[in-house]
Amino acid sequence: MGRQKLVILGATGSIGVNTLDVVARHPERYEVLALTACHQIERLHEQCRRFNPRYVALPTDDEAERLSGMLLRSGCATSVLTGPESLERVASLPEADAVMAAIVGAAGLGPTLAAVKAGKRVFLANKEALVMAGPVFMSAVAASGAIILPIDSEHNAIFQSLQNNASSSLEKKGVRRIILTASGGPFRELPTEALDAVTPDQACAHPNWVMGRKISVDSATMMNKGLEVIEAHWLFQAPRSMIEVLIHPQSVIHSMVEYADGSVIAQLGNPDMRTPIAHALAYPERIDAGVSPLDLSRVGSLTFEAADFSRFPCLGLAYEALNRGGNAPTVLNAANEVAVEAFLNLELGFTRIPTVIEQTLATVAHRDIGTLDEVMAADAEARQVARSLAAGVSRLQA
Ligand code: NAD
Ligand code: MG
Repeated sequence: MGRQKLVILGATGSIGVNTLDVVARHPERYEVLALTACHQIERLHEQCRRFNPRYVALPTDDEAERLSGMLLRSGCATSVLTGPESLERVASLPEADAVMAAIVGAAGLGPTLAAVKAGKRVFLANKEALVMAGPVFMSAVAASGAIILPIDSEHNAIFQSLQNNASSSLEKKGVRRIILTASGGPFRELPTEALDAVTPDQACAHPNWVMGRKISVDSATMMNKGLEVIEAHWLFQAPRSMIEVLIHPQSVIHSMVEYADGSVIAQLGNPDMRTPIAHALAYPERIDAGVSPLDLSRVGSLTFEAADFSRFPCLGLAYEALNRGGNAPTVLNAANEVAVEAFLNLELGFTRIPTVIEQTLATVAHRDIGTLDEVMAADAEARQVARSLAAGVSRLQA
């Protein structure tokens, strides 16, 4: 077999960079066919020089023009595609073997779904795409036969703890519980009164992981874990009652599966995204990820505590959205993206993020979701409601 031809959506982000790090360690196995990004053109240019992809796709003309100029000057033969459809085009290139879906947020839905519909092997980091469009996404997977390999460290751990047998039903496998571990983020021990005043930089300083800013804020509010509960529901066809969250501040156990006979199987490792990335890239084989060995004698102790739903209301909101079904997860995700962006722009206080989400969920009428158009309509409506709520909330704060 020749080298696996990879498309990396969101190449300049934290997951994209880690993916290229693993790829660079195995030039005999992988070849980069296409890269996409939105900003950070210098970094994208460097990646083109290093990996020499056939295509690079950018959503906006200005950035595409800048990159074309840089590539010309550096004598790099990569073709630059532009426009919103260009990302979907590279995600479904007939010659692509696998697609890393690592765009952040709802912007990743179109390209990720294009890869799914083309029946690719899809490495799924972009959890928001699955959360906002669960039923549509999973029926596209069933129709095309695409293979989804989870990159989110928890879901990758669950996949491994299911003994790489994610296809038969959880009931048949004797699964009793899926236990998603969570570090608790940077504010796990901060006095609740102090949460009002935390800044974006404090929220983005995660104790164990280095990630993009949106997911870092999601980790601080624990909406990240909420989105992961919904992600686990779709990926493993697990009912809500089977999915639990457990705080584990050291981030060494990445998640666990409990079976009917009382066995609990966990996947452990240093908190480094190159482990799940390498697992998915090579699956079912194993390759070096460049990750240092886990030294448990240095870690010393692993501790656990129950999740605090009153300190982190976003977690409860996500469970509620999953219970309600229909457009509720779409609305939850859209409202969260709007609120997090407002927080990062210093327009909304940290503790107001769940307020905006809760009120958006209460305002947008509940509907079923069966088509992509319905998903996009719910997403647009929720964004509009959340934006006016966020503006109102910040006026009240002033
Ligand atoms: P990031 O912000 O570091 O990178 C995001 C990438 O998406 C960049 O390449 C950016 O150019 C691109 N992008 C952003 N907006 C875009 C748009 N409108 N159109 C096209 N491209 C766009 O984010 P990240 O931390 O790498 O996270 C990526 C995804 O992976 C997220 O969904 C996140 O939840 C998930 N994830 C990340 C981690 C992690 O450790 N970073 C862990 C688990 C899951
Ligand atoms: Mg995760």
